[in-house]
Formats: sequence, C-alpha cells, structure tokens
Amino acid sequence: MLMSPQNLPENIRHVQERIKRAAAECGRSVDSVTLLAVCKSQPADIVRAAARAGLAEFGESYVQEALGKIEALRDLPLTWHFVGKIQTNKTRDIAENFAWVHGVDRLRIAERLSGQRPFHAPPLNICLQVNIGAEASKGGVAPAEASALAAQVASLPRLRLRGLMCIPPADLDTAALRRLFAKLAGLFASLNAGGAHLDTLSMGMSADLEAAILEGATLVRVGTALFGARS
Ligand SMILES: *Cc1c(COP(=O)(O)O)cnc(C)c1O
Repeated sequence: MLMSPQNLPENIRHVQERIKRAAAECGRSVDSVTLLAVCKSQPADIVRAAARAGLAEFGESYVQEALGKIEALRDLPLTWHFVGKIQTNKTRDIAENFAWVHGVDRLRIAERLSGQRPFHAPPLNICLQVNIGAEASKGGVAPAEASALAAQVASLPRLRLRGLMCIPPADLDTAALRRLFAKLAGLFASLNAGGAHLDTLSMGMSADLEAAILEGATLVRVGTALFGARS
C-alpha cells in the first residue's frame, strides 16, 4: 500500500514524538537520535513530500531503485544512506551515490567501496553490520570479529568508520530485543574504549525504536511507521 503524501506530516510528527518520549525516558536529548527515513519502495514524489515536511536523511535498500530517486531529487539537500544487503557488483554505484553505508560486514566489500569512492567526494561513512543475534541466515560480522574488522575498515583511505548497526531477529519480545541492543551498545562502548572514535549506533526500526533508544541508539531506521506498509 502506498500512502498519500497528506498523511506524511502527521506520521512524521508521530515518529518524532515517539523518539522524543523514549529519549526523555532515559535522560537523553532528542537531538542525540537521528531519524533515518527508509523510503525503499516509495516513489520520489513521496520522498520529496517527506523532505518538505522536514526530513533530510533517507535510506534505501535496493541500488537500482535508489539511483533514479537520488537523481530525481538532486535539487534537495538530502543525505542518502544505503541500508540493504551489499552485492559485490553494486559497490561502485553505492560508492558513487551514497553518503553512508550501514551494512558493511567484510573487508572485501569495504576495500571495494574505498577504492571506488570518487576523489571529489568526502569519505564514505560506514557502519559495520554486526550479527548480534548470531543468526545463521543473517549478514553481519560475528561480535567476536567486529573489533578486528573495525580496525581494518578504519585504515582504508576513502572510508570513515562511524559506528555499528544491527538487524535483530524477528519476533523477539521487548526484553530479548533490549538485551540484543544492549549487547551491540556494549560492543560499541568497548571499541570506543579501545580508541575507535565511533559516534553512530544504528539500531531500531518502526516496531522497536523505543527499545533501541533506551539502549543507546543514535540513529533509528524507520520505514513503515512513516510511509505505511510496503506492498
Ligand atoms: C526496511 C528496513 C528498515 C525499516 O523497517 P521498518 O520496519 O519498515 O521501519 C530498517 N532497516 C533496514 C536495514 C531495512 O531494510
């Protein structure tokens, strides 16, 4: 179901209110949480309406679909984040068209992104995806290997390592979710204690952004709650 742009300002306000309440609940400033609008499957005019309603950070999961939208919205000062699964043959398009990549989980992909990042562009911001729920079917570096990968990625010239992201298993109850978010936050803190200078903890989506913020998320990736269910 594609939603009409008229609902957007209300949905955006509602999500911003949820973020504000969760931040207040744990004594954090609302400014410490970035709302990333995941607009996969939404047409460019809906994204334009969301930008008009005040959003500036947008996330896409499919490179081909994203490129047309990025091109159509070049007149707006938007920041594009790639949040999908990264295929090797798509790294050049990602490196040339996005400002952030959230799903990096192996050195080979990071090396390609660094090598393909245009010299006129600032370094590409990277979050390492961590397989925090240890799911066989899911991407992400194992928690025990995150520190070594972080050091390797941080040394690549055209990347800037900013933080960690996770996609927890579906159907967990809130307590279990919070334990996983806390685990990622703990890993984030331990990398920083080792001198990593990470500032972005990318966790929480439409259904669980409060739990993520309570555990320290600095960026929540929200699709459905803003744009309605994807068809
Ligand atoms: C689609 C997607 C989201 C948004 O999910 P919603 O449940 O619709 O808010 C967040 N993160 C990633 C990686 C996604 O692919």
